[in-house]
Amino acid sequence: MARILIVGGGYIGLYAARHLERRLPTGAHELVMVSPENHMTYQPFLPEVASGLIDPRAVVVPLRSALRRTRLILGEVERIDAESRTARIHLSDGRRREEPFDVAVIGAGSWSRTLPIPGLAEHAVGFKTLPEAIWLRNRVLAQLDTASEAEDVEERRTALGFVFVGAGFAGIEAIGELEDFARAALAAYPPGMASEMRWVVVEATDRILPELDPTLATYAADRLLERGIQIRTDTRLVSIEDGTVRLSDGSSIAAATVVWTAGVRPSPLASASGLPVDDHGRVRVDRTLRVEGIDGLWAAGDVAAVPDPHAPSGYSPPTAQHALRQARTLAENVAALLDGRPPRPFRYRNKGMLCSLGHYRGVADPLGVPIRGFPAWFLHRTYHLVYMPTVGRKVRIALDWTVALLFPRDIAQLGSLEHPRDAFRRSAGS
Ligand SMILES: Cc1cc2nc3c(=O)[nH]c(=O)nc-3n(C[C@H](O)[C@H](O)[C@H](O)COP(=O)(O)OP(=O)(O)OC[C@H]3O[C@@H](n4cnc5c(N)ncnc54)[C@H](O)[C@@H]3O)c2cc1C
Repeated sequence: MARILIVGGGYIGLYAARHLERRLPTGAHELVMVSPENHMTYQPFLPEVASGLIDPRAVVVPLRSALRRTRLILGEVERIDAESRTARIHLSDGRRREEPFDVAVIGAGSWSRTLPIPGLAEHAVGFKTLPEAIWLRNRVLAQLDTASEAEDVEERRTALGFVFVGAGFAGIEAIGELEDFARAALAAYPPGMASEMRWVVVEATDRILPELDPTLATYAADRLLERGIQIRTDTRLVSIEDGTVRLSDGSSIAAATVVWTAGVRPSPLASASGLPVDDHGRVRVDRTLRVEGIDGLWAAGDVAAVPDPHAPSGYSPPTAQHALRQARTLAENVAALLDGRPPRPFRYRNKGMLCSLGHYRGVADPLGVPIRGFPAWFLHRTYHLVYMPTVGRKVRIALDWTVALLFPRDIAQLGSLEHPRDAFRRSAGS
């Protein structure tokens, strides 16, 4: 009996585990997953969570109910020792434990890729996790509340300034959805604030959405500009201090909220474990997704440099679309080797990209066909609804969308959730 350790409960972890559960005979092998959370997050829906269109619980999949035969350990793998075949786990209760394995699947994903910019770590927020998306929704409402009460013009301007750094898919979708949300929310605030709101996206290269065809990117930029969203290309963030965002063109923006969406870097687990990594820190795998030169170790998704003859860079891009297919190939190959059959190479041709701009608009190039406007927005929604794991989650999301169509946006600000004990402490007089 082999013990298969799956590191991470994201796309790779969940889909590889599900596939292995189906492929391996019951009781033949042991499946163990280590994940810091007890759920998988469907990241493509984070912009809609941030704008309150979808309830946060609808975009997470509880791992214990999605996986029938996989034991879940809540914690983080700190190091994988390929020689002794053990993983050191930092458990969620603070203890540490060595977990032996015969086969390990590394699906630890990626982190926000940051730079040493003064004030960035202290004042900005990333956009990769569910807590960040929930926080941003509350933050936007809190800033509208602050601005509505501010007597000082400068204070109001700063509260109503929102800067997004990085104009890839995550940045554009996030600013598109959140600006739409803020504008809708303003209907319940004193008049005049809309003209003072300032939404800016800052991009170091010469255009937004570099992954898309320039015509589609131009269409997207035009739609955002029409809505008053400013786009600063060929510009970098220089510093953030006291509500002032300084840019490389010498200008500055009064903004209390800065969202960093300037790309991702692989989880440092592979380098910390002394595994072979490329220049970006991604674990090197062969075309069958086996870690180069190490038997029993497999990796895929954002953490891995997966050779891909169809990708312009020669490696699969860090997308859910690719992770989903890699997880299946990886699980199939692990099962094949346990059966004494040879593994097969990962083969997948990008089916195109989808980007929602909020406000019922989007851009997409499915199978290379450029689509824009409402059809692209609709395709984005439908595609992700189809791929959202579990029927229950699909239904919840469809219901949330229906409610959002029929009723005004919910603008209750739940920032107090971050301090659940405050009210009780006050009652207790401490
Ligand atoms: C806002 C946003 C929007 C996106 N939209 C799209 C889209 O529209 N289309 C698309 O194709 N892609 C999209 N992506 C990219 C896509 O979500 C990722 O490429 C995909 O999640 C990668 O899957 P993964 O399994 O490698 O990593 P993840 O899904 O991130 O999973 C990694 C998991 O590993 C866990 N983990 C990390 N370190 C450890 C450790 N040391 N020990 C144990 N567990 C660990 C993490 O907690 C996480 O659960 C989007 C990403 C973001 C952030």
